[in-house]
Amino acid sequence: MRKAFKFRLYPKREQEHTLFWTLTRCRELYNAALSERRDAYRSASKSIGYYEQKRDLPEIKAVLRPEYQDIHSQVLQDVLLRLEKAFKAFFRRVANGETPGYPRFQGRNRYNSFTYPQGGYSLSEKQVTLSKIGTIKIKLHRKMEGKIKTATIKYEAGQWYCVFSCECETPEPSPLSEQEVGIDLGITHFAALSDGTFIESPRYYRKAEKTLARRQQVKDRRKRGSHRREQARRLVAKAHRKIRNQRRDFLHKQSRKLVDQSQTMVFEDLQTENLVKRPKPRQDENGKYLSNGAAAKGGLNKSITDAGWDMFVDLCTQKAAWAARTVVKVDPSKTSQICSSCLRECPHKELDERTHICIHCGVVLDRDTNAALNILRLGRSQQEAIPVEAPPF
Ligand SMILES: [Zn+2]
Repeated sequence: MRKAFKFRLYPKREQEHTLFWTLTRCRELYNAALSERRDAYRSASKSIGYYEQKRDLPEIKAVLRPEYQDIHSQVLQDVLLRLEKAFKAFFRRVANGETPGYPRFQGRNRYNSFTYPQGGYSLSEKQVTLSKIGTIKIKLHRKMEGKIKTATIKYEAGQWYCVFSCECETPEPSPLSEQEVGIDLGITHFAALSDGTFIESPRYYRKAEKTLARRQQVKDRRKRGSHRREQARRLVAKAHRKIRNQRRDFLHKQSRKLVDQSQTMVFEDLQTENLVKRPKPRQDENGKYLSNGAAAKGGLNKSITDAGWDMFVDLCTQKAAWAARTVVKVDPSKTSQICSSCLRECPHKELDERTHICIHCGVVLDRDTNAALNILRLGRSQQEAIPVEAPPF
């Protein structure tokens, strides 16, 4: 099992210069290798592969571009390997009958990392030493697990990072918990749990989002290709990063909590795309347009794209795998109409109806709690339905 650990780097000015220089040389090599493959194919229908390109590296370093001697050789090999992977993915998709885009030339803002695939780096408490680059301050804010396999140096929105990919043992199962929980992901609350509790949505990144919108406008007003636009682009990227980080942090913490306290988690099988679609226009009998809730749904759409439900389910699934827990997904249709108490169907609820009052048995529940209870019930029956292997006689 592979796990990635990402740490912030604090290069000195001179070191940052070397990092950028290395990144640029790697990108040039990538683009050169791509155009070599393309030209060979166009002119002679010949295909050039990874091993042939790798074989040429020593000559490139000795004769054509001596400056490449100042880059660790495995870092350069990894550049060619990335290209190989891009081509493999391309051909795989062609073979599957898809029409993928041909591997792309990489611009300055797209190609943002290089990798030490085996060695060439060493790590101490506060520093990482990178071959041909130097010793850079690193902040190891969390403990790594397993054995480090590769180190990738990455530039993201004005900051440098080192990402270690580690080979880890398959985890020991955590002590079993009997708890089962159904989870309804929603707008009013980030999630409603079948035990009647809620996970509230983080509203704090609304603020970050406003900043983003403002900076985006500034960027759009500035002239394409200008220095000032580039400055504005960086600020936009920073705002994006802040939102991403806040959301990731929230989702990590909440999924950790949920996985720690439950043995089985039942989610709706989300198809967020369907939820984000625009509502249909509504007309009265005279053809006059009525409110279709589009304005409310616009806000809703935003909350949905914000909320990161997919990522939340993914994180729970990953963490569950590590802790020997189970994640079950069920068909979400009618989970808000069916009464979780008597299992009979109630009329469709409008979005602003927050309470489930059963017209048959009279039970009163929070609308989302009712849905979460239904989700849990569906999850249970789905698990029971899994056929047990027949004995061999
Ligand atoms: Zn009922």
